[in-house]
Amino acid sequence: MKRVGAHVSIAGGVENAPLNAKEIGAESFALFTKNQRQWVGKPLRAENIKLFKVNCRHAGYAAENIVPHDSYLINLGHPEKEALKKSRTAFLDEMKRCEQLELAMLNFHPGSHLRKINHDECLKRIADSINIALDKTEGVAAVIENTAGQGSNVGFQFEDLALIIEAVEDKSRVGVCLDTCHAFAAGYDFRNREVYENTLSSFENIIGLPYLKAMHLNDAKKGLGSRIDRHESIGLGKLGTDAFHLIMNDIRLEEVPLILETPNPDIWSQEIKMLYDMCE
Ligand SMILES: [Zn+2]
Ligand SMILES: [Zn+2]
Repeated sequence: MKRVGAHVSIAGGVENAPLNAKEIGAESFALFTKNQRQWVGKPLRAENIKLFKVNCRHAGYAAENIVPHDSYLINLGHPEKEALKKSRTAFLDEMKRCEQLELAMLNFHPGSHLRKINHDECLKRIADSINIALDKTEGVAAVIENTAGQGSNVGFQFEDLALIIEAVEDKSRVGVCLDTCHAFAAGYDFRNREVYENTLSSFENIIGLPYLKAMHLNDAKKGLGSRIDRHESIGLGKLGTDAFHLIMNDIRLEEVPLILETPNPDIWSQEIKMLYDMCE
């Protein structure tokens, strides 16, 4: 089955995320495991960890359908030594939090070169950062999200993601989260069957479908190749309904968490229902 969900709130504690997901009819969900605007989060308390696991079990969410997202502050490809160290420390903390919650992956944006090092050097730093974190944790996969290529962000081309994966030592613990809005902004089209198939084949040939651990389903406010990251509610943006119809009927995407990060949480339950109604 298709696993449509959304990035839900953890207000009041991480244990509320599975409850919030259940309430909107989600079959998967994303969450932050701490306040995403802070470098260092308070450690998770044993009681919250226990309740999180119990609530996930009761609501029927297995680890492979839960896609935690790290803090937007982290830049694993930072050009400066001290700042890179700070990001690596924060990332390791995020990985450890996922480990404590018995989650299977951590989704993150690869990084930015800030125009101080070249693109490939940035990719290499990101791979090194991943290797360091994987070495110090167990069971949690590092899931790299494709970017819109805004500013000096790397990871907007599938080739970037493939290069990072190639340099990661433990291939069993690295994967990709494909964000439809970011991909569209980076020039990958989904709006009709022909271009959709081209995009999926590129992913398959350059990265490989087994690495696809999750998707973010977002419509896009800006046009194809705009390199601007602005999410829109499903069907209301430049990607449009047909793209999501193709996704919902693509057998290759069975059991892949399909997470909404659309701008209006009040209509997530309607968007989830609308997406399921597209299944033929
Ligand atoms: Zn993201
Ligand atoms: Zn995303």
